[in-house]
Amino acid sequence: MSKRAMKNYETSQRPAKESKKHWSLGLLESMKDPDSIYKETDRLVVIRDKYPKARIHYLVLPKEEISSIFKLNKTHLDLIDELGSMYKSIKNDHTESDLVAGFHAIPSMQRLHMHVISKDMDSKCLKTKIHWNSFTTSFFIPFDDLLKKLEQDGCIERISNETHKALMSTPLKCNQCSFEPKNMPQLKQHLLSHVK
Ligand code: AMP
Ligand code: ZN
Repeated sequence: MSKRAMKNYETSQRPAKESKKHWSLGLLESMKDPDSIYKETDRLVVIRDKYPKARIHYLVLPKEEISSIFKLNKTHLDLIDELGSMYKSIKNDHTESDLVAGFHAIPSMQRLHMHVISKDMDSKCLKTKIHWNSFTTSFFIPFDDLLKKLEQDGCIERISNETHKALMSTPLKCNQCSFEPKNMPQLKQHLLSHVK
């Protein structure tokens, strides 16, 4: 076999190259995956968070292509209203749990998404101080605050790197009482004391 023929042969034996998508596009895949979808309306899809940070953790995504909170303006107010209605609907599904809804000030995943998460924060996927502080400091923008900001200012501004750093290094504090744990294992153990 000639060198070229050999090369062609080897290439034909390999599986077709998968089109590798960047990890930050993962929500787009999950939005289409029936196993991930919790519920859906004409304008929204609710998926189960793949790495839930609490017993209940959903992501609510508009079907409209909006890359992040930074692309929102006043024309999106009715869509944000729908996100609020969906939050209510999810709360009705889980009357036994204390849920909160909001957005990360600097999202890591592309495509606008609202977290709906239970306050227990009891999950093996919750591992780091950054995970904790991203849901329990003002890095987490509650739904009502985002709505107000959009109504007042017409946009959501990016926080500075300094603010981001400061929020992520905020000392650990329980989200349900005044306890200040020394480390994550102590916090996780403590959280169990709040579970009914
Ligand atoms: P954010 O920091 O607001 O961008 O949060 C993104 C969320 O998406 C995190 O809670 C992740 O656990 C979750 N996540 C990451 N990849 C996927 C995926 N492929 N499908 C569903 N949820 C994901
Ligand atoms: Zn506590």
